[in-house]
Amino acid sequence: MNFEVVAEHQMLRDSVRAFMDSVLPEKTIREYDRARKIPKSIWPLLAAQGWLGITVPESYGGAGGDFMHSVILCEELSSRFPSLGTDWLLTSMTARLLQEAGTKEQKEHYLPRLVKGEFLMGFGMSEPSGGTDVLGLKTHATLSQGQWHVHGQKLYTSLADDADAILVLCKTEPETLGKKARALSLVLTDRHQAGVTVRRLDLMGMRAACTCEVFFDDALAPQSALVGERGRGWYHLLASLDEERILCAAMYVGITRAALEQAVQYAKDRQAFGRSIGEFQAVQHPLAEVATELEQITLLTHKAAWLLSQGRDCAREAAMAKLAATETALRATDKCMRILGGYGLVEESPMERLFRDARLGPFSPISNEMVKNFLGERMGLPKSY
Ligand SMILES: Cc1cc2nc3c(=O)[nH]c(=O)nc-3n(C[C@H](O)[C@H](O)[C@H](O)COP(=O)(O)OP(=O)(O)OC[C@H]3O[C@@H](n4cnc5c(N)ncnc54)[C@H](O)[C@@H]3O)c2cc1C
Repeated sequence: MNFEVVAEHQMLRDSVRAFMDSVLPEKTIREYDRARKIPKSIWPLLAAQGWLGITVPESYGGAGGDFMHSVILCEELSSRFPSLGTDWLLTSMTARLLQEAGTKEQKEHYLPRLVKGEFLMGFGMSEPSGGTDVLGLKTHATLSQGQWHVHGQKLYTSLADDADAILVLCKTEPETLGKKARALSLVLTDRHQAGVTVRRLDLMGMRAACTCEVFFDDALAPQSALVGERGRGWYHLLASLDEERILCAAMYVGITRAALEQAVQYAKDRQAFGRSIGEFQAVQHPLAEVATELEQITLLTHKAAWLLSQGRDCAREAAMAKLAATETALRATDKCMRILGGYGLVEESPMERLFRDARLGPFSPISNEMVKNFLGERMGLPKSY
């Protein structure tokens, strides 16, 4: 076992921190959070650092980094601005889907633009009827005279309003013998057209992630906009699930770490009864608990990332990391917020935002109940849903 920090990874951490200090200081993040918007101008700035295509091959303009680079980047962005971490994760996953399932023409056309921040893509899977029971989705697309006609509604599509296109998971095939999974395909649908209406949602957490409701009313996409094989959309997604879960875990490692750092600093600075509150055992203990849990989720997340980068089966560890990190972030933001007393609720404190943003983790991108169902099955127990 080797727990030594790789110099290259540390350099990446340092450069993300320096970037955030100069381009996205806390005051600016707060403004964006209040405005519920990340300006589109931020994406080319991230791209200039090589962070939009950090694992995209250099032949497509990416940085060609390894998966651990993605994990570190996600941790660092999310520790300062979780909404940005959410949208970055999304751009990373859509780039991955194009890379894995796209045609040569699609990759050559879209990946270099994605990597430069010139083309933003949302991903529409969840619907009003539910995000957990994905195979029950209703949005459908039919092919007629060389064009897809998309009809339906997506809910909670992040980035949708700012996106140039939305990768829509929809029914394109009849369900054969109850095989719902074989009825779905991925269709890249232009967001700016008469058939697409987007409505921003006002959420309590991840307010700047631009999460929207999207209506498709005979939205058009050329036949060539099919990403991957017809009727294999669900399977293309399955292939990227472990990566998504590990990056999601990294987000909540970042949030937990940020909450702890703020609470420790506050415990040192804040005075009561003639001494710093950090001298009280009742203040030290929750901090010690969060620090211990942070170490646990960091190790689990990095182990899952290491397994993935070695090409090994990491489905179990990826699911555990997602479960543990998101539940830990909930507890950690709660405990750390208490240490700040009233200041924890003041909007100018990052803690207030971290607390709200951490609420997303237990149910997105997959609910922790479903993660536990999956882990039950991995232990040889019967499928429970
Ligand atoms: C800020 C934000 C950003 C998002 N971004 C995107 C995005 O970009 N693209 C996208 O497609 N989606 C996105 N989502 C949607 C997200 O993935 C869903 O919210 C999530 O999948 C859960 O779906 P749901 O909210 O419909 O809950 P439901 O599926 O209705 O589930 C409700 C509850 O029932 C439980 N449940 C359901 N079935 C079972 C079962 N069999 N066993 C045990 N428990 C069960 C769930 O665990 C959950 O607690 C986003 C959501 C938010 C809030």
